[in-house]
Amino acid sequence: MKQIYGIYGASGFGKEVLPLLRDNLKENIKIYFIDDGSELTFLNGCDVLKFKDFLDIECDERLVTIAIADSKIREKLTIKCIDNNVKIIDVKAKHIVILDEVEIDEGSIICDFVTLTSNIKIGKSFHANIYSYVAHDCVIGNYVTFAPAVKCNGNVHIEDHVYIGTGVIIKQGKPNKPLKIGKGAIIGAGAVVTKSIPSGITVFGNPAIELTKENLKRRS
Ligand code: UDP
Repeated sequence: MKQIYGIYGASGFGKEVLPLLRDNLKENIKIYFIDDGSELTFLNGCDVLKFKDFLDIECDERLVTIAIADSKIREKLTIKCIDNNVKIIDVKAKHIVILDEVEIDEGSIICDFVTLTSNIKIGKSFHANIYSYVAHDCVIGNYVTFAPAVKCNGNVHIEDHVYIGTGVIIKQGKPNKPLKIGKGAIIGAGAVVTKSIPSGITVFGNPAIELTKENLKRRS
């Protein structure tokens, strides 16, 4: 059976995911980059194809990881792949720690030095960039993105499409009162989240507050 592999997104994150996928496959199977916007035809030893050209390659099975941090694009491309009979795969780096009772839905990318401790439930297409951790009893929705070095402590619930910037610290919640981060919220790099955050807003700073003109002025 001839399988071909693709990394959707021939940009920064795609280049970081390529060695992880190579390592996951072990055998020397051909990997392509897929990118609808890039001018490149070749990157880090791989051909860069448009999606339609990837579909034209003769094979029995096409398997793809979507290495694009923007969660809305990730969702759109996941649906496009599934509609075209392309299988979405998981990518796990070699140096990760996953302890006990950790459930992760399909399409995740778990980069090096990520730790997921115990009793954690994670939805579809989770990206955990280098050096991030998720502690006990956290519940994470679909299409959630962790930039590098996110520290997510225990009993935190994160809804779908949340983006968490580099170096964010999320204080732990309580078993009967988890700290909640609402759908689509964006947490700016370096923020320290000390309480629940409503859906759809952007927060920044320590302690994290909503990004508004007034708050920016107050903190500068
Ligand atoms: N892209 C794509 N199809 C889409 C949307 C984006 O191929 O529908 C590509 C885009 O051309 C770009 C990459 O995805 O090359 C995203 O790169 P970016 O640097 O924005 O994201 P990152 O690598 O940081 O996640």
